[in-house]
Amino acid sequence: MSIFYHPQKYRIEDRPMQNFIDSDEIWEILKRNENPDPGRVREVIARSLDKNRLTLDETAVLINANTPELVEEIKQGARDLKERVYGKRIVLFAPLYIGNLCVNNCAYCGFRTSNKKQKRITLTPEEISEEVTMLEDAGHKRLILVFGEHPKYDAKFIADTARHVYSVKHLNGEIRRVNINAAPLDVNGFKIVKEAGIGTYQIFQETYHRDTYLKVHLSGKKRDFDWRITALDRAQEATIDDVGIGALLGLYDWRFEVLGLLRHVNHLEAVYNVGPHTISFPRLKKASGFDAKPEFDVSDEEFTRLVAILRLAVPYTGMILTAREPAHIRDEVFHFGVSQIDGGTNIELKGYSTKNPEQNLDQEQFTIGDNRTLNEVMDELIGHGFLPSFCTACYRLKRTGEHFMEFSVPGFIKRFCQPNAILTMAEYLEDYAPQETKEKGYRLIEENLKDYKDEQFRDKLIDRLERVKKGERDLYF
Ligand code: SAM
Ligand code: SF4
Repeated sequence: MSIFYHPQKYRIEDRPMQNFIDSDEIWEILKRNENPDPGRVREVIARSLDKNRLTLDETAVLINANTPELVEEIKQGARDLKERVYGKRIVLFAPLYIGNLCVNNCAYCGFRTSNKKQKRITLTPEEISEEVTMLEDAGHKRLILVFGEHPKYDAKFIADTARHVYSVKHLNGEIRRVNINAAPLDVNGFKIVKEAGIGTYQIFQETYHRDTYLKVHLSGKKRDFDWRITALDRAQEATIDDVGIGALLGLYDWRFEVLGLLRHVNHLEAVYNVGPHTISFPRLKKASGFDAKPEFDVSDEEFTRLVAILRLAVPYTGMILTAREPAHIRDEVFHFGVSQIDGGTNIELKGYSTKNPEQNLDQEQFTIGDNRTLNEVMDELIGHGFLPSFCTACYRLKRTGEHFMEFSVPGFIKRFCQPNAILTMAEYLEDYAPQETKEKGYRLIEENLKDYKDEQFRDKLIDRLERVKKGERDLYF
């Protein structure tokens, strides 16, 4: 089935509404579920805790539950779901900006083509090696490569960059999974990128509201709403089934965007039988020449609430929270089932090797709220009893749909995710952690080992842990 359109065929304003997002329908769903009865809200939370994915109407019920008591029950529901299903694991990654050339004019982004203050840089292979070496030396195993949209950054360039990143190895360090955040490609382009062995291809729709989309995407290819919203369909046609979606919160009403994200999930599930691997929900931040005081500002209270609602609405999709958010917000929403975070983040071009203590907005995309080192984040997570993980096993063993398996296959987390988190954390403790974090980390591992009642399995895990301590690397279940 081909459901994508040639971007230049019509002026976009003339094109009929052809895709699965219908703004009027989304508003209608929000409206008909206004002022929900508390009993109905509790019923919806219970359905999610019974491992059902929520409908748009059910999600609208949660969105419209405004009293402090109901909001707390929603947050508690998300905490319960996290504990029951996902355990204490949090996967860590880092973004690596490859180039900020861009032909688009996204009003909110420091890279927009009209921003003459932005210093344009594309990392050379040598510079990429330097950045990756720094990231490996900090302990990273998973990266997301980020690109502006420019003819120079075509599919081949993205694929070659991913291959190059995989080839950089320093001491015990290596990058085992490279994800991509870049412009939408055509089917052939996605095929080229897939061959480089990428993990997730992430594209944020930014806003699911068409009129707002046209207001903030002033010129360039990205102005075509349909070309963007069908991007992950083309990825699926190119057999990339590991995709990430997202909305940039603050462009339009967050209630609408949550249902837009859910509609996108429904579409991918209905047509390809596989939902997105991850959902991202970045909040708009200040950028070079752009002061984030949006009309649709999402307050901290609304943000934490919407993360809890998303967790309940799509209980088996991975959720990514980035360093755009300050540490105190991150600490709260970890408990709602965020599955991946970045740590030791630096989004300045060449930033990991230059190590500027201050952000330089004329050489990066936006302001970040959490600039702790990877070890500071690790230490904090361990202190709260979370198990930081650098695991890449499912992707490398071609166990695709891992999030769905984690959720639906009884014992999957205990047999695969948790032990692999322990083994990759032990690698980190051996190779990169200061003594204090190392001791704390091993104490947490000891505690977690006690949870394994199956002695045979526990012995197997202990044996692998000992092998890691003796210098073997990359052991996984
Ligand atoms: N250029 C590609 C694109 O637009 O799809 C790659 C992504 S861009 C480098 C990464 C993401 O950063 C965008 O999709 C957008 O959601 C986000 N972003 C841009 N400006 C931002 C801002 N001021 N605050 C927070 N996030 C922002
Ligand atoms: Fe370019 Fe992406 Fe920034 Fe838009 S969000 S200006 S496409 S880098």
